[in-house]
Amino acid sequence: MFSWQDSAWNAWLPIRERLPHAILIRGAEGSGELEFAQEVAQSLLCEKPRGDRRGCGTCPACGWFAQGNHPDFRLLLPDSMAPEPQEEGAEPTKKEKRSEQIRIEQVRELAGFLAVGTHRAGLRVILIYPADAMNANTQNALLKSLEEPPPGTVFLLVSTQIDRLLPTVRSRCARFALPPPDPAQVTRWLKEQGVKQPEAALAGAGGAPLAALKAAESEADRLRFIEGLGDPGFDPIALAEAVLRVPPWDLVGWLQRWSYDLLLARVAGRIQYHVDHEGVIADTSRNCEAADIAAYLRALAQARSLARHPLNAKLFVEDLLLQYQRLIARP
Ligand SMILES: [Zn+2]
Repeated sequence: MFSWQDSAWNAWLPIRERLPHAILIRGAEGSGELEFAQEVAQSLLCEKPRGDRRGCGTCPACGWFAQGNHPDFRLLLPDSMAPEPQEEGAEPTKKEKRSEQIRIEQVRELAGFLAVGTHRAGLRVILIYPADAMNANTQNALLKSLEEPPPGTVFLLVSTQIDRLLPTVRSRCARFALPPPDPAQVTRWLKEQGVKQPEAALAGAGGAPLAALKAAESEADRLRFIEGLGDPGFDPIALAEAVLRVPPWDLVGWLQRWSYDLLLARVAGRIQYHVDHEGVIADTSRNCEAADIAAYLRALAQARSLARHPLNAKLFVEDLLLQYQRLIARP
């Protein structure tokens, strides 16, 4: 849970007191909805809750929860959000595209979990995120457990789009809407995360703190990347490494706009995209032939069609940067 979720926690406490067996937590995407629900789950399993009813963080239950192996807890996520399985000798480049949906098998596997008594004689908690990633069949499979849960069982369904849940599922759940966080608290937090203009970032993300952070980090990555491109002595391998977390699709787009400015500077003495880097672009373009820049732009356009799912993202980006290095190499 984040520092700006204190008021959400206070709003949650009355529901905690009556503790319905199924609760639908609704929050905007990027508003920390999953982290909040995890705090709720931990606090329900904790064996010595604090005065504010949050998890103590020191009892055995909190320890297991933190390590992801509390025996009375299940977290249902789409495969695409779950950590990569660490298989011996697995070929990372050959991985199949992982499901964006919560599969019906995941819900069916709950039956065994619900059939036995709890291990710690306390509550049993099932957290499903995002609940709207279950299709109608999967939701129907869940329905029976929601209708007749064993005693001491709490379902936490977290959703950013509750209209995608079946009315029958919704009607089985008590509702809790995450209240919007206090903008002053969020602004302070974003600043602590290194975001330079937190107010603007937050406004641009529609008030969702995590979405604002992600956008700001992406902008910081972009600036680091084009600074590398403007440095004639740059190291393609190191630069590819530095932007490893950026989707290749975005990187190709950044390279395209940068190279387009190089071409424009070379043939027309002006630029279109990088007004803050005009001098660097002009200097760099003097080392390039216009025809070579145009050829590189064609290569980038071709690369973009592969950039959604490159076999090996790092090699893919390194290759484009090595080509760029040859392009700008001083004769
Ligand atoms: Zn605890």
